[in-house]
Amino acid sequence: MHHDSQTLAEPQQLEKVAALPNRFVETSVGWYVLTRERADLGPYTSLSEAKRALSRHLKQHERVANRSPYASFSGFYLHDPQTCHKINCGRCAEADAMAQKMNSGW
Ligand SMILES: [Zn+2]
Repeated sequence: MHHDSQTLAEPQQLEKVAALPNRFVETSVGWYVLTRERADLGPYTSLSEAKRALSRHLKQHERVANRSPYASFSGFYLHDPQTCHKINCGRCAEADAMAQKMNSGW
């Protein structure tokens, strides 16, 4: 193997990511990154992969919009898959995993 062409996240980006623990959701199928877009990111096999994905995501959206991306994103809430309109949703995957646990007598 020569040079690894995959771009690593810049330290600055990783700091931002680290400050947002609520954006990562672990489910039975892997890690999701919650976004404010129509589709969440994931699932990823590891948390570090999810963090890199969020880094890339933030970079892309910095160019598009100059809004504060996390202003309305606060804390844990119970998500309702019935009313969710996302295409690929980490919260739905999380709710799904919890329902499965309960059904299996957890
Ligand atoms: Zn959802």
